[in-house]
Amino acid sequence: MANKWVYMFGEGDMTMRNLLGGKGANLAEMTSIGLPVPQGFTITTEACTQYYEDGRKINDEIMAQVMEGIRKMEEMNGKKFGNLRNPLLVSVRSGARASMPGMMDTILNLGLNDEVVAAMIAGNPDSKFERFVYDSYRRFIQMFSDVVMGVGKKYFEQLMDKMKEEKGVLYDIELTASDLKTLAEQFKAEYKNQLGEEFPADPVTQLKSAIEAVFCSWDNPRANVYRRDHDIPYSWGTAVNVMPMVFGNLNEKSGTGVAFTRDPATGEKKLMGEFLKNAQGEDVVAGVRTPMPIIKMKQEFPEAYKEFLKVCETLENHYHDMQDMEFTVENRKLYMLQCRNGKRTAQAALQIACDLVEEGHKTEEEAVAMIDPRNLDTLLHPQFDAAALKAAIPIGKGLGASPGAACGKIVFTAEDAKEWSKRGENVILVRLETSPEDITGMKVSQGILTVRGGMTSHAAVVARGMGTCCVSGCGDIAIDEDNKRFTLAGKEFKEGDDISIDGTTGNIYDGAIKTVDATIAGTFGRVMAWADKYRTLKVRTNADTPQDAKKACELGAEGIGLCRTEHMFFEEDRIAAFREMICSDTVEEREAALEKILPYQQRDFEALYEALEGNPVTIRFLDPPLHEFVPTEEADIEKLAKAQGKSVETIKTIIASLHEFNPMMGHRGCRLAVTYPEIAKMQTRAVIRAAINVQKKHPDWIVKPEIMIPLVCEVKELKYVKKVVAKTADAEITAAGVKLGYEVGTMIEIPRAALTADEIATEADFFCFGTNDLTQMTFGFSRDDAGKFLNAYYDTKIFENDPFAKLDQNGVGKLMETAIKLGKSVNPKLHVGICGEHGGDPSSVEFCHRIGLDYVSCSPFRVPVAKLAAAQAAISEAR
Ligand code: PEP
Ligand code: MG
Repeated sequence: MANKWVYMFGEGDMTMRNLLGGKGANLAEMTSIGLPVPQGFTITTEACTQYYEDGRKINDEIMAQVMEGIRKMEEMNGKKFGNLRNPLLVSVRSGARASMPGMMDTILNLGLNDEVVAAMIAGNPDSKFERFVYDSYRRFIQMFSDVVMGVGKKYFEQLMDKMKEEKGVLYDIELTASDLKTLAEQFKAEYKNQLGEEFPADPVTQLKSAIEAVFCSWDNPRANVYRRDHDIPYSWGTAVNVMPMVFGNLNEKSGTGVAFTRDPATGEKKLMGEFLKNAQGEDVVAGVRTPMPIIKMKQEFPEAYKEFLKVCETLENHYHDMQDMEFTVENRKLYMLQCRNGKRTAQAALQIACDLVEEGHKTEEEAVAMIDPRNLDTLLHPQFDAAALKAAIPIGKGLGASPGAACGKIVFTAEDAKEWSKRGENVILVRLETSPEDITGMKVSQGILTVRGGMTSHAAVVARGMGTCCVSGCGDIAIDEDNKRFTLAGKEFKEGDDISIDGTTGNIYDGAIKTVDATIAGTFGRVMAWADKYRTLKVRTNADTPQDAKKACELGAEGIGLCRTEHMFFEEDRIAAFREMICSDTVEEREAALEKILPYQQRDFEALYEALEGNPVTIRFLDPPLHEFVPTEEADIEKLAKAQGKSVETIKTIIASLHEFNPMMGHRGCRLAVTYPEIAKMQTRAVIRAAINVQKKHPDWIVKPEIMIPLVCEVKELKYVKKVVAKTADAEITAAGVKLGYEVGTMIEIPRAALTADEIATEADFFCFGTNDLTQMTFGFSRDDAGKFLNAYYDTKIFENDPFAKLDQNGVGKLMETAIKLGKSVNPKLHVGICGEHGGDPSSVEFCHRIGLDYVSCSPFRVPVAKLAAAQAAISEAR
């Protein structure tokens, strides 16, 4: 039997999301529960994959099924595609398995051409109808040209702006039928001018090209970036939905809107949405006119509004989740064009999850499973300092579209945002309105401020998804993007000026307002308590300073999985002693420098043990690529020479001798302890003395240091260093006359260590996977330089993700599994964790749970993310 590439809405349901995409599956589901959906069909995601397999072509079999779908649509809708008297016009919309708002393409009003337009007008003498027909036609020519043929929409917008100026009007809605007719002519001429050919008149050609364009948009740069950020595999493909048009721009009895059943910013249980009369869907989303709140629809279209409220209730009861819906009213009749589980802020996600449990829609486990862990990050982002805020007077207000507070220097383009942030500046990207092309600039900005657009505009939706603070739709701003300036409240702002915005209230402030870290309570605590109840994987933190450790504990860390001791020496007053240690050329000199370092280390370790209150603390011994610490400035070199009683020349010779061609694979890690055992001795003393002191102060805590030896590749290395550690530690403990347990373990971050883990585990109390180095050494590319070529790897689809951010389960993961199996086979008590950057990445956490790690360790702000991901892994495993 031939493949089935096309499903009428009546043939599917919500369980078929993989095949029909989210939009298609939900259109089918809404059809099956009797909601008013214009009846069309979905071309499957498999057809998209086939399109790429066939060299970006729609094959005859797929096209034949599409035309069969059109025939059935014609029957159901009583209209004919391409027919002059009663034409069927359609929309062609993308719809992937996971929703990707604004990332892929849509074409509306397809099927129009000069003849159809003329016939439609001839069949209806009403002048308002003529206006509607030309309005639809100019929209179609623009969308088709832009989306299908790649003619930039700016050409059409310029023509539109010119026409509005000539006619002395502000909005497109004020243009007459004849203005729009002229515009349609101008648009077609522009098409020919740009492409050297006539605008295609044949509806079947239009349809085929539009479907191809949607398939093609799966691979556009912004979709590729979005997929990488949201862990959506390229192999999924997008479905295409072909629906009969219903017209929100038909007349004053028509309109279009977008709504959420609960507030997507706060989660409050109340209908939220926006509505535009006499408009088509993209007007609301693109922020062309500022829409009215949905409640106004009650006065304008009471019947349709009443029905819409019923639909909202039905959908929430059906999906047991907050719904995001698109709808159109045509001649006062309501049509549903889309529903999906709505995107929401982290704050709203927690509120909604808690409410849905209270309302009996969800179990605790289901509530935990429905929150995207990556989103939690935003809750932990800064807010304005209350006192500083009190003194500040808002100079303007837009919509609070994505919460959090931000201040920074004003920039006007995505390119500038990237440049300025590369220079280390915090930036606020100010735009008339944002489009998906701005995404990379938005990503690096602290905040986004737009002049146009509502809560559902592109800027709002994308910023919420990224967790970036955003204020949208501040119409009081008079912006001059070309000259990079705007005025607000009578003041002119230029590029580089400071500004502050509050994405919760929508307030805009002149100058920079101090921000403070967020405090977490209420629904966050409740959801985290559920996460703690269901997860089995422990979550520790990577913290190098007592401050980081405290923050992490506040955020729920259950231990320190990695303290990078070399990071304790970044500060000005400490680095001098560290440099003396590096640049010593005798053991005596080195020991003298180490004596200076010891008290710093001991004090820091004591503070760490205090902060952790008896929870485990893993201290990793020195692992610096030495070149990071040697002085390069003349003044520093002179200072060092003086401190060591050496000549500047001698110091320079020592520095030159430390040069390595490949420092990442050089004299670092346990190799330092092998060459200079006195370093390991000093660190052991600091650790053990600190532990003894804190244990004495807090007899009810269990202070049991975990000493971690880095970059081991051979059991004999570990055995050698461990002997030094044990001898020093035991001597300290005996001298103090106390009892103190301690462990010595190793990082597994070299493939050879993983492959010989059964040997290494005979000497180790624990393993901790250093997946930063393990990834570097497994792939054979530098963790510092891979960024230079990874983009080419994404473009060529060799990689879908950065393996330094998302664990490569096939390769690096296999080494981890091997190491655990081999290690535990000889040492069943071995405990195992991970402390590479992957420890805070949700999909990597899920993998760590699956392969039986005891804990993950991540940066403080990612602790809640990891906890939630760990709970989700346990819950989905139990299902
Ligand atoms: C690692 O390699 O994964 C690790 C945690 O160590 P570092 O990043 O300090 O090399
Ligand atoms: Mg490492």
